[in-house]
Amino acid sequence: MEITCINCPVGCLLQVEMAGGKVLSVSGQVCKRGEIYAHQECVNPTRMITAVVPVAGSQMPLSVKTEQPIPKQDINKCMAELAAVQVEAPVRMGEVIIRNVCDSGVNIIATKEIARTV
Ligand code: SF4
Repeated sequence: MEITCINCPVGCLLQVEMAGGKVLSVSGQVCKRGEIYAHQECVNPTRMITAVVPVAGSQMPLSVKTEQPIPKQDINKCMAELAAVQVEAPVRMGEVIIRNVCDSGVNIIATKEIARTV
């Protein structure tokens, strides 16, 4: 299969040979990060999630992110939990907004401060 390395703007096109769910070889990468990415992406793909959620007590939305990447297959469940979340100002940067999102073991955290303004 062919995948594009997303670790830097070069965007190397990687050729990945697989058998039995395992990576046999990777070619096309300029650096070692491409090989590592190909193994992860083809065996257990993960993504960082970023989003904004409304905040009661503020006219500004709150930007949030996962503390670590979560399995790609859990993205829709994660977004559904984010769509239902209720946040109230004030919010501290780094505050946990959702603990253990979609049973991934990863928290959703605030990426900025929000003061109460209304
Ligand atoms: S393989 Fe290395 S140079 Fe190529 S896109 Fe990935 S990180 Fe960038």
